[in-house]
Formats: sequence, structure tokens, C-alpha cells
Amino acid sequence: MHHEDLSTLPVAILGAGPVGLAAAAHLLERGLAPLILEAGPGVGANLASYRHVRLFSPWRYNVDKAARRLLEAHGWTAPDGEALPTAGELLDGYLAPLAAVPAIAGALRLGVRVGAISRAGIDKVRTRGRETAPFVIRAGGAGGTHDYLAQAVIDATGTWSTPNPLGANGLPALGEELLRERIAYGMPDVLGAARGRYAGKRVLVVGAGHSAAGTLLALAELAEAHPGMRLAWATRGSLMRVFGGGDADGLKARGQLGMRLKALRDAGRLEMHEHFLIHSLALRGGAIEVRGADGTIADIDEIVCAAGARPDLSLTRELRVRHDPWLESTDALAPLIDPNEHSCGTVRPHGHRELAHPERGYYAVGAKSYGRAPNFLLATGYEQVRSVVAALGGDLAQADDVQLDLPQTGVCNTRQAYQAPAPAAGCCAKPAATACCA
Ligand SMILES: Cc1cc2nc3c(=O)[nH]c(=O)nc-3n(C[C@H](O)[C@H](O)[C@H](O)COP(=O)(O)OP(=O)(O)OC[C@H]3O[C@@H](n4cnc5c(N)ncnc54)[C@H](O)[C@@H]3O)c2cc1C
Repeated sequence: MHHEDLSTLPVAILGAGPVGLAAAAHLLERGLAPLILEAGPGVGANLASYRHVRLFSPWRYNVDKAARRLLEAHGWTAPDGEALPTAGELLDGYLAPLAAVPAIAGALRLGVRVGAISRAGIDKVRTRGRETAPFVIRAGGAGGTHDYLAQAVIDATGTWSTPNPLGANGLPALGEELLRERIAYGMPDVLGAARGRYAGKRVLVVGAGHSAAGTLLALAELAEAHPGMRLAWATRGSLMRVFGGGDADGLKARGQLGMRLKALRDAGRLEMHEHFLIHSLALRGGAIEVRGADGTIADIDEIVCAAGARPDLSLTRELRVRHDPWLESTDALAPLIDPNEHSCGTVRPHGHRELAHPERGYYAVGAKSYGRAPNFLLATGYEQVRSVVAALGGDLAQADDVQLDLPQTGVCNTRQAYQAPAPAAGCCAKPAATACCA
């Protein structure tokens, strides 16, 4: 296939989460054709796994501008900008109507999981003719496996489908796979569908992020109805990061989460295991014993692993990609989001240039663009896809004009976000190149 054929092909969007669907809206505005491949049975499949969770950012940060214009042209009215939706409400009130807009519905393939991306007739090593060859996206579903052709690829597959394991070293803890049916990854609905699984049990929650905190609060509520229930919480570092922010957090709901947990701990309703480095799990008398470098947590019935997630890099094995060595984000983005340096969700505005890979025409956007770094925000992803789509449309002026209106987090630790309490100066005192409050 020759160069002139490329522009007749669609732009493939991998994943119909909030950022993938926003990319589709931006493509349509520029007269480019999207082809959206989604593994789940519906759009927003990851959000659907935690429908019950209330988001910490209000509606006004959660709706993409191009998507809003498209929806409003189809009679949609935006919800109250200051209200905090649950993940389910974001799905039902925004993503589902967006996916139903005919131009998007016609471009959407559900139940299609992408396994690999390459270029037509050209493997990773071959350079000649590379940039004019279409992308080939191999994806499978109930209808079999197909190769889809595209002029460019926007990879918005997120990270939620590939959670980090319990092992402190990033490998599954020894015994973790064997005990899989007693471990839930992510945010199970402990007050709803999963209530029976956790009621009355001794539950260990692992992780220091907002997902762990939210699950612990829900478990504490469940424990009020089941007095025999015991809760334990293990984190690799200290808990300053979760407790931080408070009233100073620009996202009020997120600040309150930390304060409520601190109260729970202070009331003695939480057994805490800070600096606990899990290496193995074993069964002892029918209960799980969790072994760490300096001790054990015994007599556990169920574990909730909320230790973050990682991007699935196997998709791009045949493409020329360049990632940060530890974050697995793009190189350019890494210094802005490294959790060793920052704990905030606020990064400098960035767009197609920071997201570009050596493989021209391939971009990872959304949660996947952050690799293993936490704190990705939807508003960041919406600005990313606005810039990337402008670049794909040849409008470099718009593509380079990146702007971002994000709330300050109030937990801007400069160093050792996992360990140290926030210094009084905050991270805004840092040089501009790495400032997270810029
Ligand atoms: C519990 C939780 C709460 C959050 N709260 C907020 C908040 O309040 N505010 C905020 O701004 N951000 C929040 N975030 C962060 C972030 O905005 C969300 O994770 C958001 O869903 C990221 O959107 P995305 O489109 O990049 O990825 P996702 O929503 O993860 O979507 C990825 C999509 O790709 C599909 N997919 C995955 N692999 C494949 C494949 N191989 N082939 C085809 N399809 C595939 C998935 O099924 C999914 O539909 C939260 C995150 C979590 C986990």
C-alpha cells in the first residue's frame, strides 16, 4: 500500500474508555474517521468494574469539550459541573450517550481485544517504507481474529486491566497465583455485589493509594454491621501520602478520604502494617499467612490488592517505542510524573510532542500514557487527545497550544512521595523543569 492510500484509512482508537471516546469526538470534529476497538462488552469497561466508587473530581473536569459539543448537538444536557459522579454515573450519564451518537456507534467494535500492533508488510527491524505503511492491528473476539488497518493508532487501553501484583518487588508474591480466588484486584463492591464475600471476614487491604483507602472505608462501614470483622492494611511505605492533602487538597472529596481514614486508624479500628514488604503467601489452617521481609500478617481470609496497575507493553512489541526505564510512560513525560519526585496529580500541560514515540503515528494516551505512575486525571487525558488529534490532522498550531486547567492537589511532596511528609515549601518551589504545580 502506498502513501496516498494511508489517508483513506481510519485512525484506530484502542479502548473505549473516557479518553478513547474523547479521542473519537476530536477526530470527528476534524473530519477524520475513527475505528474504535474495545475489549469489553460495553464502553468504559474498566469504570464498570468500580461503578460504585464516587469520583473525586467533579463533572466539569470529567467531560471532554469535543465530546460535550457532539453530545449537545444530539440534545444532551451536561450535569451540574460541581457535582461528584460515581464511576457508574459517569458511565451512564456521559459515556453511554456519547457511544450512542451515530457517528461513534458506527465506528465502535465491542468485544474485540487488541493483542498486537505492527505495520503492513514491515517488521520492527525494517526501516525502508515504514512511515508510509499502514498500521496493522491484530484483534480478536467472538467472531475470530482479524487484522484491522489504520493510518495512525491512539492507544487508550489504560492500565486497569493489568494490575500490579502483591509482591513488593513487582513480581507476584510466591503463592499469589495459587491463592488467586481469595485475592481481588482493584476495587470490589464490598457494600454491594461483593458484600457476602467480605462480611464477617478478616480482610487485608494492600496499597497506599486512593483505591485502597476507598475500599478500607467501605469495609469499615461493612464491619459496623458485622462486629466480628477485622481489617488490616499493609503498605510498602508510610501512610503520609494517603493522609496528606486534607483541607488543602484542590479536590475536596479526595482530601476528605484521607482524613476519614486517619480517624479510623486513630480509633483503633484498623490494624496497620506500614513499611511491610510482601514476598510470599501461604495457607495455614485454611487462612492466609502473608509473609514480609520483617514479619507476617496471619489469619487472613481475603485480600484486596490495590497496588496500582501497569501498562500492557506486549501490544507494542512490534513497534518502535521508547519508554521511561521504570515508569513505562513516554520518556518526555516521566520527569513530570515520577512518584519518586512528586505525589501530585498536577502536571505541566503536555500534548503530542511529549507523547510521541519513534514509531510515527502511534500514541499512548490516557491512563496508559502515565505508565506505572499513579495520579492520572481525566482532564489531562482530554487535553492529550485534543493535541494528538490536532497533530494527526496536520494542525500543528493547535497541537502545540497545550493548556490544562487542573485543581491543585495539596499533596505536592517534592521528594520521596511514598515516604516523606510534605515539606512546608511544597513542590512549587522546585525548578520549572520538574515542577508539578506549573
Ligand atoms: C478507582 C479509580 C478512581 C478514579 N477516579 C478519578 C477521578 O475522580 N477523576 C479523574 O480525573 N480520574 C480518576 N481516575 C483516573 C482515570 O481518570 C481513570 O482511570 C480513567 O478511567 C482513565 O481513562 P482511560 O480512558 O485512559 O482508560 P480506561 O478507563 O482504563 O479505559 C481503557 C479501555 O480500554 C479497554 N482495553 C484494555 N485493554 C484492551 C485491549 N487490549 N484491546 C481493546 N480494548 C482494551 C478497556 O476495556 C477499557 O474500556 C480514577 C481511577 C481509578 C482506578
